[in-house]
Amino acid sequence: MLKIEDLHLSFGGIKALQGVNFEAGAGEITGVIGPNGAGKTSTLRAISRVSDPELKRGEIWLDHQPLHNMASHQASAAGLALVPEDRRIISGLTVEENLKLAQIAPPIGWSLDRIYELFPRLKERRKQEGVTLSGGEQQMLAIARALARDIKVLLLDEPYEGLAPVIVDEIEKTLSLIKSQGITTILVEQNAVRALKLADRAVILDTGGVVFDGTAEEVLNNAELRAEYLAI
Ligand code: ATP
Repeated sequence: MLKIEDLHLSFGGIKALQGVNFEAGAGEITGVIGPNGAGKTSTLRAISRVSDPELKRGEIWLDHQPLHNMASHQASAAGLALVPEDRRIISGLTVEENLKLAQIAPPIGWSLDRIYELFPRLKERRKQEGVTLSGGEQQMLAIARALARDIKVLLLDEPYEGLAPVIVDEIEKTLSLIKSQGITTILVEQNAVRALKLADRAVILDTGGVVFDGTAEEVLNNAELRAEYLAI
């Protein structure tokens, strides 16, 4: 289980997070949603420790192991994987080389065969340069690359952005399969309706704090909450 306590993060004078608290249950999908600038990306960056210098206060625990004093590579070795919004596919490398690169150091996760079973499209295109894939395929490669390491928690920043609904359907199926393997997922999404339909739990952020923490179903059934924070 991932436990986030009292996260504070600032960029110069801008307070991006002002006390974020929530828990993500093992093997659950937690949707983190909220208006622009609410602090969603900052929360993922703080959890994965890529924004280390700016973390003012707060604790991050993964199965009782403290992560808040770790560097990002240590958090990654402990089982966290961030798939950032821009996907960071490495140019000049094929699909398979991108995957193999993720496996050069332990902890090594899924084998290439297992990854290709989940992503047959990547298998077909394994010799193609990663950056020439379509947007949806690049998102799949970015998720596959996270699974190539032995992870407990998958942190996804706007995985549906710019993708056609039919491709989002495919990504959702993949995320359900990943969930069935016991991996904990935190899904940051602008597309709140899609995120809530897939998620077990929902956290709504606004101006750097948590304004709702409950089940995804509760949000879908609460018109007031939806109108106030999600404009849906
Ligand atoms: P969006 O949905 O628009 O992507 P978000 O909820 O992900 O927004 P964040 O990107 O976490 O929000 O930003 C939270 C606040 O922190 C915003 O006010 C943003 O302008 C500020 N911020 C984020 N990154 C930086 C940075 N590198 N330098 C300065 N301010 C930043």
